[in-house]
Order: sequence, then C-alpha cells, then structure tokens
Amino acid sequence: MRAAAPRIAIVGAGIGGLTLGLLLRERGVDAHIYEQAPELREVGAAVALAANGTRVLRRLGLGELLAESSVEPTEVVYRHGETGDRIASFPMRSAYTARYGAEFFGIHRMHLQRILAEAWGHERLHLGSRVVDLEEDEDGVRLHLAGGGSAAADVVVGADGVRSVVRGWVTGGGPAPVYSGASGFRGLVPAERVRGLVDPLAIQLWLGPGGYVIHYPISGDMINFVVARPGPAPWPHPTWMTEEPPGTALAALETWHLAVRTLVGSVGQSPRWALFAMPPLQRWWRGHAVLLGDAAHAMLPHQGQGANQAVEDAAVLAAVLADADRAGIAAALRRYEVLRRPRTRQVQRSSWVNADMLRLHGGLDDRMLADLPERLDWIHGYDVADVLTPGAAHRTSMPGTTGADLLVS
Ligand code: FAD
Repeated sequence: MRAAAPRIAIVGAGIGGLTLGLLLRERGVDAHIYEQAPELREVGAAVALAANGTRVLRRLGLGELLAESSVEPTEVVYRHGETGDRIASFPMRSAYTARYGAEFFGIHRMHLQRILAEAWGHERLHLGSRVVDLEEDEDGVRLHLAGGGSAAADVVVGADGVRSVVRGWVTGGGPAPVYSGASGFRGLVPAERVRGLVDPLAIQLWLGPGGYVIHYPISGDMINFVVARPGPAPWPHPTWMTEEPPGTALAALETWHLAVRTLVGSVGQSPRWALFAMPPLQRWWRGHAVLLGDAAHAMLPHQGQGANQAVEDAAVLAAVLADADRAGIAAALRRYEVLRRPRTRQVQRSSWVNADMLRLHGGLDDRMLADLPERLDWIHGYDVADVLTPGAAHRTSMPGTTGADLLVS
C-alpha cells in the first residue's frame, strides 16, 4: 500500500462499498470495510447491470466472472399489458455492446455480491460492525460501532445505503428519503414454470392500467420480475418491505394478459417494496466523511440505475482519493462531488420521468419509445473514465428535460 495515501474506512459492503474497496486496492490505497450484517446475504432479488456499470467492473478484471453468472437479454420488448401486443422492441446482446461498449447483464444480487466479496476477501472486511456514530478530530475520523468498538481512518466513506448513518452526520440530520407513492412486488420464478411466456430471454416491459410489469432473465434459468403499482399512499408500514398476503400482486393485475398473470401468480407471495428516493443533497461531504451510492442519491428503480450509479461513484472516488495525500483530502472530496452530483441528479430525475412513461402516474407517450436507444445513450454510453481525463467531453444530462445536452469538458 502507498505510504502517503490516506487510510480509508468504508461503511457498508453493498455493491458500492465493495466496488470502491476493490478500485482503491487496485490503486494501492489502504481501505477497510465495516458492514453491519454478520454475513453477506442476498438483499432483494436481481439487478440489471448496464454498460456504464459493467465497463468499470470489467476494468477490475471481473468481466468473465460476471458473464458466467449472468444472462444477457436478447432484446428489450415493450408490450401492451392486457392484449400482449408488441408496442416496440430493440435488439440487445451484440447490438447493445456495439452501441455502448460493454454488456448489459441480468444477475442475481447474491451472485454479484459474492463476486465482489470474494474478490475483496476476508482480511479487511469487518462483518457484524454496525456504525452508530462518527467523530472527527485533527487525526481524522473515528467510527463508533454498536457494542462499543471503534476504528480510526483519514477518510470515512458512507456507502451505507438509503438509510445511511453517515449521511446523518454529513448533512447534520438533513433531508430524509421520500416515498414516491408507488411500490413494487418482486419475485423470482424458474423459467420452466412459465412456458407460456413468449420471449423469456428478453427484458419485457408490460405497460397496463395503473402500472407496469418488468421481467428479465438471470442465471440458473430464473426470471426476475417487478410489478410496479401506484400506492398505497401513504405507505402504511413501519418497514419499507412487507410480506403481503398471497395473491395481493395478482389481484392488482386482474385484467392483464395471461402470461403476466401466470408469471406473477407462480410465486405464492411477493415481498412488496415501498419505492423511496432521496431529495437532492446540498453537499455530499463534511470534513473527512463523504457519501456514495444510495446514501447520497437513492433513486427510483424505473431506470434500473441505482447500482450502476453506485459503481460510477466508486470509480470517481477511488481515482480522486488515490491522487490525494492527507493534506489534499478536502480538495479530493470537493472534486468528487463536482463530478458526481450533476450526473446522479440527472439520472434520478430521469427515473421519475420514466415512471410517467411506464404508466405509473397515468401518462404514456408511445413516441418516447420510438427513439429509446438514443434516449439511453447519455446513461449507458457514459464512460466514467472520461470525466477523469482532462479535456475529454462527455454528456451528463438527459435529452429533452434540460434543453440541449450539457457538454462538460
Ligand atoms: P446497498 O446495496 O444498500 O448497501 C448498503 C450496505 O451498507 C448494506 O450491506 C448494509 O447492510 C450496510 N449498512 C447500512 N447501514 C450500516 C451501518 N450503520 N453500519 C455498517 N453497515 C451498514 N439498481 C440497478 O442498478 N439496477 C436494477 O435493476 C435495480 N433494480 C432495483 C429494483 C428495486 C425494486 C429496488 C428497490 C432497487 C433497485 N436497484 C437497481 C437499486 C439498487 O438496489 C441500489 O441502488 C444499490 O443496491 C445501492 O448500492 P449501495 O452500495 O449504495 O447500497
């Protein structure tokens, strides 16, 4: 490890925290990861990794492992939720890779977590270490752990998810995540149980009354689905995920196409997730503590970008910290925020816009589907390495919402 480099403590061994640890290690920077869970287990079901995320993970040497553990969907198909008619479709696989420069993978979260965790190893991973408070002095930052332990570092990175403790410290108790008024039922179904599902290897979005159903394949011949519905409003439960009585998700799809009903009905019970997003934060860092991933910018899942943005964050933060000595930490964290805040804000906004397009709030504009690949260029075609290269131009914003694309160089 580089002698003059700052010592980093990462709070949270999720997708963002583990990716950051690996990228720092690759650059010779010492990091320890503190995770509250006693073991790393599956959280949620699946995750879609887009080219803007996979190109970073490929550079870490994880490309082959990812490819072995995931599925590349054949195409994206939009269908009418009740009739099953195809509204639009776009090829994936080689067409996608040729356009965006890296693959699109559907992967089980457990597999992604395992690939990252095994690459990281046990030595600097502190499981069962829940951070409850931070304290900063001239020597750096001290993490206080539940049960009485503590750890010191030059920089603390809050990669501790949407309910981040580090965010509370950075913002002085600032904004809390906001319920979007919509929720999602999730499930995993063996493909053999839904033989009537045309195009099971595609990402299919079924747009119907009051919501959408998305499904895509992941490894092990499994199909991951999410049923996104408006309400309940307000969210009535103390936790963000509840086990609804069997049949609740299906009851919301009474008039929908048989293939969708068979898919959703083939799991007895689907967990229901409240869909929360973070309001924009005024700043992402305070002193020597900084935020990454959902802790900084939790977003709605309608763009499939939360994990991908955490990976992009990790790439930028690793690069600026690797260039910094202890005296340069504040400047490095400022640079990270300048590079990441506008980009993630735009992706957050586009997730809200997609909620409308996907009928969650009533307004589908079929014309928006016509030029979908072009509309995704600014997200999936983004190469985070470009923002770190002086003079390289890159798109940061969503076409059509802020006027002309913002070109930053
Ligand atoms: P997390 O993955 O939440 O990890 C945070 C870690 O910190 C956890 O391990 C947690 O145990 C730990 N932790 C928390 N508090 C503490 C503490 N005090 N001390 C120590 N450890 C702590 N994203 C995509 O890119 N593609 C998708 O297809 C996609 N689909 C989604 C579907 C749904 C329904 C939802 C709800 C989200 C989806 N997302 C998707 C979003 C994605 O799951 C998140 O954006 C991503 O997991 C964020 O990663 P993270 O590392 O920031 O946080």
